Amino acid sequence: MRILVVEDNPDLREQLTKSLEQAGYAVDAAGNGEDGQFLGETEPYDAVVLDLGLPKVDGVTVLKAWRAQGKATPVLILTARDRWSDKVEGFDAGADDYLAKPFHTEELLARLRALLRRAAGHATSAIDCGDLRIDTRAARATINGEPIRLTSHEYKVLAYLMHHRGRVVSRNELVEHIYDQDFDRDSNTIEVFVGRLRKKIGQDRIMTERGLGYRLIDPAETPSA
Ligand code: CA
Repeated sequence: MRILVVEDNPDLREQLTKSLEQAGYAVDAAGNGEDGQFLGETEPYDAVVLDLGLPKVDGVTVLKAWRAQGKATPVLILTARDRWSDKVEGFDAGADDYLAKPFHTEELLARLRALLRRAAGHATSAIDCGDLRIDTRAARATINGEPIRLTSHEYKVLAYLMHHRGRVVSRNELVEHIYDQDFDRDSNTIEVFVGRLRKKIGQDRIMTERGLGYRLIDPAETPSA
C-alpha cells in the first residue's frame, strides 16, 4: 500500500515518512500544497495524510480539487488542535478522518489502517483468505496461525493482493502501489516477489491470469481447473 504525506513541517514530515515506512508502506512526501496536489493527481495512492495549513495551496483547496476530479482516495487531514472549524471545513471538502496536532504516531497508524481496510471493504485489522491471514497491525502473515517469514517487499505485495483478494491485479498496479516515487521500479521484480511468495504460502494461492495479472484466491474454496 502506498501513502502520500503532505506536511510542510520538515521534522514532522520526516518522522511521519519514517514511521509509515517502518509500518510497511511505500511513502511519498510533499512539503507544500502545490506539490502535494500534483502528486495526488498523478500517482495512485491508497491513502493520503494531508496537513491543512500548507504553503502555496492550503489543504482544503487541495482536497476539494482532488474530489472535484473524482478522486476517491481516503484522506486523513491533520488539523490544529483548537480549530474546530478546520475539521468541519475538511470533512465538507471530502476528508475521511482527521487527527488534531499534536498526535501519537500509533493513533495515526491505526486510523490509516482503518481507512485502508474500509476502502477495501474489510472490517477488522486481520484480513483472511482461507487459512492465510495478514495482520495489518503487525504487518505479519500467518497460515493456520503459523507465522510466515516475509521480506518487506514480499509483505507489501501480499498485503496489496489481500486487500484486493479475488480481483485480478496487474503487475503495473502492483508496481505503482508497493514502490514510492523515487524507487527504481522494475516490473520484472514483481514476478520475482510473486515467485518467492508462492514458495512461502503455497503455489496455488496466487493465480496468474495470462496477460492480465495476479489473483489471490483461497484454494480450498476455488477448485483448480
Ligand atoms: Ca502546516
